[in-house]
Amino acid sequence: KLEIRNLSKTFDGTGVLHNVSFTVKDGEFLSILGPSGCGKTTILRILIGLESADQGIILKDGIDITNTPSAYRKMGIVFQNYALFENMTVLGNVEYALRKSPSTKAEYNNKEKATAKAKEMLELVGLAEHLEKKPRQLSGGQQQRVAIARTLALNPDVILFDEPMSALDVDTRLALRGELKDLQKKFGNTMIYITHDQEEAFAMSDRIMVMDAGYIHQLDTPHNIIDYPADEYVKKFVIKNI
Ligand code: ATP
Repeated sequence: KLEIRNLSKTFDGTGVLHNVSFTVKDGEFLSILGPSGCGKTTILRILIGLESADQGIILKDGIDITNTPSAYRKMGIVFQNYALFENMTVLGNVEYALRKSPSTKAEYNNKEKATAKAKEMLELVGLAEHLEKKPRQLSGGQQQRVAIARTLALNPDVILFDEPMSALDVDTRLALRGELKDLQKKFGNTMIYITHDQEEAFAMSDRIMVMDAGYIHQLDTPHNIIDYPADEYVKKFVIKNI
């Protein structure tokens, strides 16, 4: 369980997050919806430790991780632009992560073991035929599958996604939706997912968090957000876009 309590963040004197509190259950798929600039990415960056909050605490399974270095939080992140190493092969990207990450490097210091695990993860995302290719030789969807396999290989408790589908075409997005949900079922990770695509959020999520200007307006099931919007903002924002 992740508990975020009273998180506030200011950039250059401007408040970006105002006393944000929420809880994410183990194994939950939680989407964050809200207009551009409302603070979605900032929340993810603070959760994973790439950014520090001005105020507030983060508890993971009851343990305060507010000041724990990113590499020791057992969280992974998947970005919109895949963030793969272009000079390495597909297999090399996953192997490298296994051999360098604090959470896995002891177990995978043996190269054969790292290769076997990397292959296994890449096969799971349908890339068995592409192991020796460089990322630029793959489609966007395939590159994102590499990024997902690389993150999953590190066995994180929580995976954060920052608009992972926004560079992909509709068919690929639909395919990846199902694949992601299947992977979550298999590995049981908690997933926190930023998207601008409301239909996607409603189709995939256990709960959805609707934000605006650094505040949470509602955090609820897709059903309740549609049927019982917490305020006028949620009502307008959701109906407008669905
Ligand atoms: P988008 O949907 O466009 O990605 P977002 O909801 O993820 O937006 P954030 O990226 O969290 O929004 O940014 C929230 C606000 O904080 C924006 O006004 C942004 O310009 C500002 N901001 C984010 N990072 C920084 C930074 N490092 N320095 C200064 N301002 C920042």
